[in-house]
Amino acid sequence: MATRQDIQAIKERIDMVSLVSRYVSLVKSGSAYKGRCPFHKDDTPSFMVSPEKGLWHCFGCGEGGDVVAFLMKIERLSFVEAAKRLAEEAGIAFDSTEDGEREAMRTIVAAVAESYAANLTNAREGKKARAYFESRGFDEAVWKRFGLGYALPGWDHVKRAFGARYGIEKLVELGILVEGEKGTYDRFRDRTIFPIYDLSGRPIAFGGRAFEDEQPKYLNSPTTPLFDKGRLLYGLSWAREAVREAKAAILVEGYTDVLTLHQAGIENAVCSMGTALTQGQADLLGRFVEEVVIAYDRDAAGSAASVRGMQILRNSGLAVRVAQLAEGEDPDSLVRKFGADAMRRAVADAAPFHRFYLQTLAAMHDPSTVTGKERILAEARDFYRGVQSLPLQQEIAKGVAELVDLPFEGVARELGGRPKRAASDETVDAAPTQRFAEEEILLSLLLRGDIRWGTIAAVAGPDDFSAPYRPIAEALANADESPTISELIEGLDEDAARRARELSLAENVFDRDTGRAVQDALDRLVRVPALDRKLAELDREIRASAEAEDWGRWEALQRESTACMLEKRSLASEKIARRGMYGRDQREARSEAEEDESR
Ligand SMILES: [Zn+2]
Repeated sequence: MATRQDIQAIKERIDMVSLVSRYVSLVKSGSAYKGRCPFHKDDTPSFMVSPEKGLWHCFGCGEGGDVVAFLMKIERLSFVEAAKRLAEEAGIAFDSTEDGEREAMRTIVAAVAESYAANLTNAREGKKARAYFESRGFDEAVWKRFGLGYALPGWDHVKRAFGARYGIEKLVELGILVEGEKGTYDRFRDRTIFPIYDLSGRPIAFGGRAFEDEQPKYLNSPTTPLFDKGRLLYGLSWAREAVREAKAAILVEGYTDVLTLHQAGIENAVCSMGTALTQGQADLLGRFVEEVVIAYDRDAAGSAASVRGMQILRNSGLAVRVAQLAEGEDPDSLVRKFGADAMRRAVADAAPFHRFYLQTLAAMHDPSTVTGKERILAEARDFYRGVQSLPLQQEIAKGVAELVDLPFEGVARELGGRPKRAASDETVDAAPTQRFAEEEILLSLLLRGDIRWGTIAAVAGPDDFSAPYRPIAEALANADESPTISELIEGLDEDAARRARELSLAENVFDRDTGRAVQDALDRLVRVPALDRKLAELDREIRASAEAEDWGRWEALQRESTACMLEKRSLASEKIARRGMYGRDQREARSEAEEDESR
């Protein structure tokens, strides 16, 4: 079982934003990140991640927690499973029985990989696979180096060879067997096999390529407990050192591109296994490199999915360039026809991503016609808005302005303006509007560490807070010198924890001096209830003095009561004005003030 220190170490080492980004597209917002909640149908981005606090929270459905909680929920894992996965990613050795289980699973995949490899070298049926690999220039040394193999034709070779030893269920779980209506059978049949390795270089899944025209041409293992293709890149296990050294990776389309480049000594090539690049993969690359050079074939590079992938890379903070290969060439064919140096030149000459994009636009639409200009602007707008870098946006606007031959200012305005179809607007504008009562203001400042409990302790205690907030105030009052938020939240029940997360992630609570805000909030929190109590008591005394016909005292009490009411009203109107500052419509605040007046 994991110790508390293990969990703490995991939380410290895992980059929460990149973890969450594998599942949710996040946009930076202040010191936090926002996106659409993966746990409820979220039309407005109400999902927030604060790497600083190590917290995530959805203002829509109230889900939230730390990095372990996120993985548990999104992957439906147990606490131990989630912690294990994160520990592995963080490179923390983690003692648990599940370690043994994963180890056993890896052993199974490795054994199956070995049998595929043996088929390639020895099996009679493997002849065409050998011929195929040889035709690609991959000799036996290459097979060995990359673990290449061949899956025999027929439905149950693997099943018969390994079913009894490892259990059918396990093999299904690992994606090696498929469960069909008539029972289980081998997933990969009569295909060349490209084992997929984890970062430590152990096979965890397979890609299988069909001969000739069988569909699908490439078949991959499904997601398994060992394999999540959205967060792994084929080839990275071998490219690790090279990418680190070059601080750059070459992103290609297919397994054979990767292998050809590695074999030719260009060892920083990786590919994304047949799917569009995911944020998780981009983040993974971001851990190793500063730049990615995309080397897809010409058509693929210009496709919408690729352009989107490039934006994802950019948004992971990577510089992106696009190698422009000659019509009809891919890295594999380029190297085989013209040698490794031709590929090295293509990489060296790769164009910055935005310039490549502008060229693509110019090739797709005729910039000399009005319709062409309109289309270019419409397409560039999405692109422009998907890029989260002001200098890059400026570059794009400049390039588009030149391309369509229109003034820069007008083009920049057009690109940056609100899109016409607001429904599919992907960008995030403002924080969810919230109202903050005084106790929420105080607690949010306390939770965010802007003020200490000591600052307010002389004036207010936990008892001044209303029931839903009292547990948070108590936790703060009883906490050590500087507790982290997750420590504070750990001790709270679910409801209070939700409130605490919300308050700690709240943004723009006020846009003025903290000291003043604290004072105002304390006034409201402590003075208003005190004034209420005083007014109630004055009322009783006024009635008593009237009964006693003590008119002198009655008049003094009346004066005191009026003063109290005026004081309370001044605090009340402050509160309303303040609320208006928190993003609520001023008109709404005014009409509420008027209502107060008429009461
Ligand atoms: Zn939600």
